[in-house]
Amino acid sequence: MKMLFCCNCQDIVKIQRELRQCMCGKSRAQATDTINVWHSGPSKVLGISNPSLVKALYSDLAWPEGIGDGRGHRIESFIIPVTAPSVQYRANDSPELALTSKYEQ
Ligand SMILES: [Zn+2]
Repeated sequence: MKMLFCCNCQDIVKIQRELRQCMCGKSRAQATDTINVWHSGPSKVLGISNPSLVKALYSDLAWPEGIGDGRGHRIESFIIPVTAPSVQYRANDSPELALTSKYEQ
């Protein structure tokens, strides 16, 4: 699962097929298919390991009080590097472009 993290307002939103933006509006992202995404603005794309999320959700059902010392069930997340082929950064993106058909799929 890919998430947009805005370095300006620290908002995090799930990247989906429709154009999404953060609370401050400076960062935006959109999925172009089930794997590839683009983003713009002062942002990073975060990845959440789907297997670790599923495991944590099942563990939470069994042990809702947490594990061991009361910590919550862990999920694995990471910053997807700019060199990843599935992530494109659009430096010239602007909110006005979203109103054109350029981003319509
Ligand atoms: Zn923002």
